[in-house]
Amino acid sequence: MENIVDKIKNCIEKNKDEYIGFLSGYLQQDSTNPALGVNDNPLACHMWLQKKLESYQIFDKIDLWESGSDFSNVVAVTEGEGEPLMFAGHSDTVPVTETQKQEWRKDAGPWSGAVKDNKIYGRGASDMKAGDAAPLMAMHVLHELGIKPKRPLYFTYVMSEENGGREFGVDSIIERGYKAKECIVMEPSNNLAIVPAIQGEFYFTITVQGLSYHIASRHHTLYPHGYDVKNIPGKNAIELAIEIIQELQKLEKELGMYVTHPLTESGSTTINFSGIESKGIFSAGAEECEIRGSMLYNPSITQDEAFKLFRDAISRVTERNFWLREHPPIVKIPYLLSTKPPVNVDINHPLCEQLAESARAFGKESVFESCLSTSDANYLQDHGIATITMGPGANEYGVHSISEYVPVDVYLDAIGRYAYFLSKM
Ligand SMILES: [Zn+2]
Repeated sequence: MENIVDKIKNCIEKNKDEYIGFLSGYLQQDSTNPALGVNDNPLACHMWLQKKLESYQIFDKIDLWESGSDFSNVVAVTEGEGEPLMFAGHSDTVPVTETQKQEWRKDAGPWSGAVKDNKIYGRGASDMKAGDAAPLMAMHVLHELGIKPKRPLYFTYVMSEENGGREFGVDSIIERGYKAKECIVMEPSNNLAIVPAIQGEFYFTITVQGLSYHIASRHHTLYPHGYDVKNIPGKNAIELAIEIIQELQKLEKELGMYVTHPLTESGSTTINFSGIESKGIFSAGAEECEIRGSMLYNPSITQDEAFKLFRDAISRVTERNFWLREHPPIVKIPYLLSTKPPVNVDINHPLCEQLAESARAFGKESVFESCLSTSDANYLQDHGIATITMGPGANEYGVHSISEYVPVDVYLDAIGRYAYFLSKM
């Protein structure tokens, strides 16, 4: 008798063209994130997905709804008993810039879905339409084998991941009732590594108020004698901002040295400054200065701890500066994007073991990794869902860059592993 692994392998071999064709078709739908680039019909990709999935007749429901003015979500549902299980992906992609368009492989364009040299090409091939497609094709395999997973399953796809949005994507899906305690995110994980830990992230602005002075009076601000604290002759906001930046750099170094997690490399906690802008006239000391940036932090620190470490560093500068004591810097978190708390699921969580077992079934040992870049997994975790990332694709296959692809073998391997995994659910 054929065992389940052989059955799955044979079924994938038999339907290979259909599974590759599905991904090619998906890649032919331009799903550039409407907040990041031009997309004349941002609903088209999800309409295609809905229609295609309906044609398979293997899901109990395909739910498509619009969310916000330009976004939409699709959830494919199979009913069952017990705790639901979620698979989460995103259909949107980053735009292809003009320069990228020119440098992209000519015979396999960004929306071609072309198969060349055993690789499937297109913007989003690795990030993350191969990951989106794989568990759906796995369900196709199981359907052909007459196997129906027992648990209710939600295969969820948003259009607003690449711009860091949560309201119209993940939050909208949960609000619509598709909630589980466990979730697999199919983002590219270095060719199916198991990722139970992802860094936390937040963006910030710090606004520092100074006191402007004529440049001819600068010496009074440097050597102020005879002035009391209430009568400071001037304070340069840029110089105050530099002091804050230096204090945050000290914190960055300290955390980078000593905060670790079994799955992260050291130095993974970083504070990046992306902009600094001052107000004031050219012949005066800067009267205000705004620093913009972000902090990425090790999954072993909680979001609250990260906020506290960050704010405390700024407070240390405030405490030792008489001017700042009276005019404390204004710290704004979040700035631009919602804050992303870290993902830190126990490496012994049953999902990790089940995914590792599905790799072993095909003769492969799973690699466990942490991820330095954040995704919707962070928002799902924020909803109290244990979230593990595992998906085909890798950054080195042109993610957010030129000539993006996914190797056919990696994609088919993912279908096999998900199928095995789902057959046990
Ligand atoms: Zn992605």
